[in-house]
Amino acid sequence: MRKPLVAGNWKMHGSHATNAALVGGIATGLARDAQLAAHCDVAIFPTFVHLESVAALAAATPIALGAQDCCAEHGPGAYTGEVAASSLQELGCRYVLVGHSERRALYGESDELVARKFLAAQAAGLVPVLCVGETLAERDRDETHAVVARQLGAVLERAGVAALARAVVAYEPVWAIGTGRTATPEQAQDVHAFVRGRIAALDGNIAGSVRLLYGGSVKASNALELCSMPDVDGGLVGGASLNAEEFVAIVAAAARK
Ligand code: PEP
Repeated sequence: MRKPLVAGNWKMHGSHATNAALVGGIATGLARDAQLAAHCDVAIFPTFVHLESVAALAAATPIALGAQDCCAEHGPGAYTGEVAASSLQELGCRYVLVGHSERRALYGESDELVARKFLAAQAAGLVPVLCVGETLAERDRDETHAVVARQLGAVLERAGVAALARAVVAYEPVWAIGTGRTATPEQAQDVHAFVRGRIAALDGNIAGSVRLLYGGSVKASNALELCSMPDVDGGLVGGASLNAEEFVAIVAAAARK
């Protein structure tokens, strides 16, 4: 059985004070019902500069730590401004996002660069959370499967299907991120089943065990419906992860799977 995962992408939010309150609130919410952490993995993804302090805040809790990006180069080396996956691992990260749509769209990250980040993350012992998803224009042109196949294929080509045994895939339709517009459970399931099918064509066991998260305006009010889909193994949550109560309610929904 796949244990669900709920991952909170804090994006460029947070200060020492707000992070302390947020981690405290999530930890308190999880501690109220031991079943939550028993049935659902929970991870938070603060900014790079807050990783060390958040790691300390989360140390005695079931909350795992992730980073929002990493350098494609293994490092150390002359890559000013970049952060090596090995440094993230040293700080206590278990996960790292690669290929978030904001990185792809705002910073021009190509499929090839994302695949190299995926490899660098795994080489450092991190679990990459590979983000894939189509824009609204691509969906309207009926290209959703083709786009997702291309993004996933770039990683499969370079890392091989075996690498997915140590990774998570997050389907995040770009039109649903931060817009309040969520994919319907059926739309999410359709793409998740497609992704699992692509992996199954290469390795059935890995396809059966890899966790596929849905991301895009996940909230407490829609999490249960989304997570009830057979191929949705949890969520990658942006805005709603900045509110402890809301985030814990999403974890509670995923834990019911
Ligand atoms: C995200 O940041 O990956 C995300 C899905 O954001 P939101 O939940 O706010 O749509």
